[in-house]
Amino acid sequence: MGIAVSPQIHPQVAEFLEKPRQMLINGKWVNSISGKTFPTYNPATGEILAQVAEGDREDIEQAVKAARRAFDQGPWRRLTASERGRLIWKLADLLESHTEEFAYLESLDNGKPLTIARGADVPLAVDLFRYMAGWTTKIEGNTIPISVPYTPGAKYLAYTLREPVGVAGQIIPWNFPLLMAAWKLGPALASGCTVVLKPAEQTPLSALRLGELIMEAGFPEGVVNIVPGYGETAGAALAAHPKVDKIAFTGSTEVGKLIVHAATGNLKKVSLELGGKSPNVVFKDADLDSAIPGAASAIFFNQGQCCCAGSRLYVEKPIFDRVVEGVADHAKKINVGSGLDPETHMGPLVSQEQLSRVCGYLEAGFSEGATALAGGHKKGNKGYFVEPTVLVNTREDMKVVQEEIFGPVVVAMPFDDPEEILPRANDSDYGLAAAVWTRDIGKAHRMAEHLHAGTVWINCYNILDAALPFGGYKQSGWGREMGHEALNLYTQTKAICTRLS
Ligand code: ADP
Repeated sequence: MGIAVSPQIHPQVAEFLEKPRQMLINGKWVNSISGKTFPTYNPATGEILAQVAEGDREDIEQAVKAARRAFDQGPWRRLTASERGRLIWKLADLLESHTEEFAYLESLDNGKPLTIARGADVPLAVDLFRYMAGWTTKIEGNTIPISVPYTPGAKYLAYTLREPVGVAGQIIPWNFPLLMAAWKLGPALASGCTVVLKPAEQTPLSALRLGELIMEAGFPEGVVNIVPGYGETAGAALAAHPKVDKIAFTGSTEVGKLIVHAATGNLKKVSLELGGKSPNVVFKDADLDSAIPGAASAIFFNQGQCCCAGSRLYVEKPIFDRVVEGVADHAKKINVGSGLDPETHMGPLVSQEQLSRVCGYLEAGFSEGATALAGGHKKGNKGYFVEPTVLVNTREDMKVVQEEIFGPVVVAMPFDDPEEILPRANDSDYGLAAAVWTRDIGKAHRMAEHLHAGTVWINCYNILDAALPFGGYKQSGWGREMGHEALNLYTQTKAICTRLS
């Protein structure tokens, strides 16, 4: 293959793209049982980047078997917590030492600017693994003073253990391919689970390269299995598999609901990180020098392909024109281009499908009466580029205001006072994130209390950290990833009671 590889590509990446990529099952790199492969594309050109083994139900079967064996019989469960932590830390070190290579791979496969992949995606993934490595030795139960009124005079020693749930199936999206793999693998491995990971079909490459580092770090075979493939085949088989104890999914709310249905067969545990339509509220007393660029980057970061993107911009009336014109100015100055170009601020969308979807939303917005202060169209004829767009003259009942666009499109609306804005900000099926910009600390925290969202940012946006729990209210999901709460997704409590006398 190596079709779209130009000479300036990182040499190890060029080498990685040369051969069709295989899947990782039981510590071995193998072809799919069907022998099928699928292409992954360079979104900046629309050309094929590499061929990847196409896993389906049969490959998932083998991967689950390997993960089951590694959990039930393998050496993994016998490692001490400290040994488990050291392996995860070693993986973080290896990943860090390959930062440049992963940044290239991520930029090529997803389209995002190389500078962003290098400065954010890879270091955040490294940090997440290190954070989780530290938790292995701190997953503790409690001793509990019990009274048992129906055995008067008896004495007991009662305590709890936090034990790994078992085999975790993990299905991840294409917007932060490496980082999402880290968010999933980190807490699962720290907890002592074994894993079958299915990367998104649009962006399987960085997870597969990570698989090589996982084996190099010395994880026992079968602990991490990586099966690339399509959602309706490989993903659905994993979600429904009776020998999988837990499924963790990040993606659309629509597919999240399918995952819940698929999980009912064996009532596997489910965690979901789904869509969003996050309100970003700017009050007239805000520091506009930070609020305006903040509102722009809230929506345009990662081409708007963030589940927590600040896609509904509410601005207090007296400053509405100034703020939206400021955000539109930022939009017009964004260099849209190939992720590998150091001058690029914003890359292409991930796929033709996403480009069509975003353009469809733009048309729907215009036909319902919205107007664009910046952007509004597809850009160029090659690759999946779209202009950063600021829509005004929008109303709450419009499709572009209600639904997640997952592209660089913000809808801006004025409001009169804090009482009016809260119900409007909360009027969404989603509840992933929200932000408030104000100099009034009391107002900021009152808003934070009443906003229905798993994350509220005050005078900042898109601040994510391995130690900070992330997840959704309402239809934005179940459970929290990152922070120590992530361990709750991969462990379960056992209560042990001993009669002493
Ligand atoms: P998007 O629509 O933004 O591509 P999806 O929710 O469809 O996001 O995809 C996120 C992940 O879910 C991908 O890894 C995809 O392959 C997977 N997926 C899609 N459909 C299903 C399904 N029916 N069952 C399980 N996984 C799925």
